[in-house]
Amino acid sequence: MPLDPPTMLTISIALAAAAALYLAIEWRSIREPSLLFWSAGFATITVGSTLALLRSSGFLLIGIWFANGLLVTAHFLFLLGVARFTQIRLSPAWYLIFVTWLVMLLLPDGPLWSKVMLAANSLLVALATLKASSLLRPHGKSLSVGAVQLRYVLLGHGIFYVAKALTVVIPGTLIDLAAFRGVIIQISLVEGAMAIMLIALSMTGTERYRREKQIARLAERDPLTALYNRRALEKRAPRLLEQVSTEHPGALLLIDIDNFKLVNDQYGHTAGDRLLIALSEMIRSVLPRNALTARLGGDEFVILLNSTSGERVMELGNTLREQFLSTTSQTFPTTAAVTLSIGASLFDKAPANLTALIEQGDAALYESKRGGRNRLRLTGLTTPG
Ligand code: GH3
Ligand code: MG
Repeated sequence: MPLDPPTMLTISIALAAAAALYLAIEWRSIREPSLLFWSAGFATITVGSTLALLRSSGFLLIGIWFANGLLVTAHFLFLLGVARFTQIRLSPAWYLIFVTWLVMLLLPDGPLWSKVMLAANSLLVALATLKASSLLRPHGKSLSVGAVQLRYVLLGHGIFYVAKALTVVIPGTLIDLAAFRGVIIQISLVEGAMAIMLIALSMTGTERYRREKQIARLAERDPLTALYNRRALEKRAPRLLEQVSTEHPGALLLIDIDNFKLVNDQYGHTAGDRLLIALSEMIRSVLPRNALTARLGGDEFVILLNSTSGERVMELGNTLREQFLSTTSQTFPTTAAVTLSIGASLFDKAPANLTALIEQGDAALYESKRGGRNRLRLTGLTTPG
């Protein structure tokens, strides 16, 4: 089958329809509005390309002016989708694209008509596409692999359309939109089919990578306090522990709230939740650089430090105890004081694993509780404080 323009257009129609459907199905599971804009963009290309087939039957207004207008609209929808994805507000001036397009209707018929039409159409498509690509530039935060891919695919597509517009000024170029004649039109149809596939795949990849990142983030965070959970701590602890040496001892602090149940009983579970969040914020505010912290579950938290000393551990633990007591005594006065018990262990050799280390901390924490609560028990290299 020869790849004549109507055949290429038919292939593009099929590809664009498949892309529109594919992105709509993705939207059904991910519910990300940008996917809906992109799906609508490909649906618009499907309609526009179908109308473009009509020009061979002599319907020039619908087959050329209207069909090309839909191509511009489709790229504008891609731009809106990218703006949604990057959460960047587009200036309303971008809607002027359509005003420019309407003005094209006033163009007189004549030999120049095809050329002006092609140049204007290409420049408007290029403008929307290059803007979309520029929105995907990393703005301070790193982009996912999918977004980087989409950015370059759009950049390539945009540059192609700039080049297409420029061919108009090359003397002797044959451009006959009505009869689909001219090398640039033929090349453009092939590029169109390729671009549909590449853009659609990058768009789904873009959303999927972001989703996967979100899921990975959720899987390693405690939902209430947003601190790491035990699994994330276990994953990250080895890197911190391997830096431990005699000159740079490490320490683990295991923290448990005393009489926490009283807050739940006297003020309700939501108040208890608020106190857990307040404690997590206190821990974050005193946490040294390179340290790790996690909520192990219930009212139990852990801090892992490297390059520390017994004095620094005591100072950090006692600061937390004092801050916490001051908060609970003001906010949640209870029949028995709601305080912090801390079990800490200092070590100068990386322990076999985190579990062994937590068990040491647990033993020290038990001593703190047994000693009357609201205290810090330090075991390991230095004499207990
Ligand atoms: P102790 O002084 O011996 O530590 O006793 P405690 O009252 O602090 O209670 P314990 O540590 O034995 O148990 C923790 C309690 O924390 C049990 C549970 O009711 C409560 N709890 C666990 N998770 C949550 C949570 O996510 N939110 C709230 N509000 N309460 C929780
Ligand atoms: Mg407790």
